[in-house]
Amino acid sequence: MNADCEVLIAGAGPAGAALAAALAPLALRVVLTDAAPAPEGADRRALALGLGSQRILQGLGVWPALADHATAIRRLEVTERGAPGVTRMAAREVGAPALGWVVGDRLLQRALLARAAELGIEPRAAAVSALAPGDEALAVTLSGADGDTVVRTRLLVAADGSESTVCRLAGLPRHHQELPDSVLLARLACDRPHAGLAHERFGAGGPMALLPGPGAADYTLVWTLPHERAEDLAALPARLLAPIAQDAFGWRAGRFVALAEPRSVRLAESWPVPATGERVLAIGNAANTLHPIAAQGFNLGLRDVATLAGLLAEAAGTDPGTDALLAAYRRARESDWRRFRTITGWLPRLFENPAPPWLLARSAGLAVLDLLAPVKRRLMRHAMGLAGPQNRLQRGLWP
Ligand SMILES: Cc1cc2nc3c(=O)[nH]c(=O)nc-3n(C[C@H](O)[C@H](O)[C@H](O)COP(=O)(O)OP(=O)(O)OC[C@H]3O[C@@H](n4cnc5c(N)ncnc54)[C@H](O)[C@@H]3O)c2cc1C
Repeated sequence: MNADCEVLIAGAGPAGAALAAALAPLALRVVLTDAAPAPEGADRRALALGLGSQRILQGLGVWPALADHATAIRRLEVTERGAPGVTRMAAREVGAPALGWVVGDRLLQRALLARAAELGIEPRAAAVSALAPGDEALAVTLSGADGDTVVRTRLLVAADGSESTVCRLAGLPRHHQELPDSVLLARLACDRPHAGLAHERFGAGGPMALLPGPGAADYTLVWTLPHERAEDLAALPARLLAPIAQDAFGWRAGRFVALAEPRSVRLAESWPVPATGERVLAIGNAANTLHPIAAQGFNLGLRDVATLAGLLAEAAGTDPGTDALLAAYRRARESDWRRFRTITGWLPRLFENPAPPWLLARSAGLAVLDLLAPVKRRLMRHAMGLAGPQNRLQRGLWP
């Protein structure tokens, strides 16, 4: 079977768009397709991206479009309400300009799509609706407003999000679990400048993160709560919600002077097992939909993109859909995936027990971790996406 393209990317969300921008300079025929038009309008959420992700975006040539709209996270404090222990992380401890940056999700997706288009890849408006395997290529049916077309590809990349149709069509069983939590998102203004300080604060009211925003004292609040509580709070007038959030968080970031646009998002976790099939592999949310408590979702997705782009660049001129390439992708990604599946599984529950012995033990743990500089630096490097071997794209050099 001849092929129409080497790589078909199903899904032009942030992960699929990043992969398109990464593959565009390589000698590959790439098709990008999405079931829905590119989103317009304001950002739905703020994404915290580690320094490792910023380097990948730099390598893709996308960072210049984002830099003026991104807020640097220079320091992070991990604390628990009602306990004195604190773990402080600062970019200078790892010799970096920032731990990461906070960027709007739609701004990021639009910048990635614009870069892919600049390099010659525009998304088609069609959904992957059927697959037929073949020895040398997969026949993929794309369904759009003009009907169905069949595209034969050597490699099909599932970048089609949490409920990946591609993974289902490829027969990849999916671990899926509805989580007991929702997150309440809101914009927050405090009476004290953040100076690039982000907070991860645990407590009986549920884990809360404050991500610094573009204004000197603006934050995004990301508050993990049981569904009903999150929905009830999101339905309150913002002026009534602000003191409740303040009471749960305490005064570490100053006084909450205004809170806006509260909304709750239900959470589930899911991933395909395994993450590859015949001439198919998954990236981004299609490969890992995780609890956002560690702010890792898209960071993991960008590392999928960097790994895959590196493997495809090395395999230039050969069939990109071989079992060997798919196995190399799985091997390269599995430990990173496993680490963050585990961490996002236990972290929301770790601080649940408010009994004094637990509170004291956790407080001591945070204080001790603060003093264990090598352990802390190792943790920081993982969270920033700098652990393990870094390929050219991860070093900001591409192609
Ligand atoms: C509350 C919250 C906070 C978060 N905070 C952070 C954070 O701080 N840092 C971080 O790194 N991550 C964070 N994340 C995770 C991050 O938002 C996701 O990892 C990221 O948006 C996933 O992008 P994606 O491109 O993989 O998937 P999606 O954005 O879901 O894109 C999938 C695309 O596939 C298309 N599609 C679907 N079906 C088909 C089909 N059959 N054919 C073709 N196309 C199809 C869809 O239209 C869509 O455009 C957060 C998530 C949540 C919920």
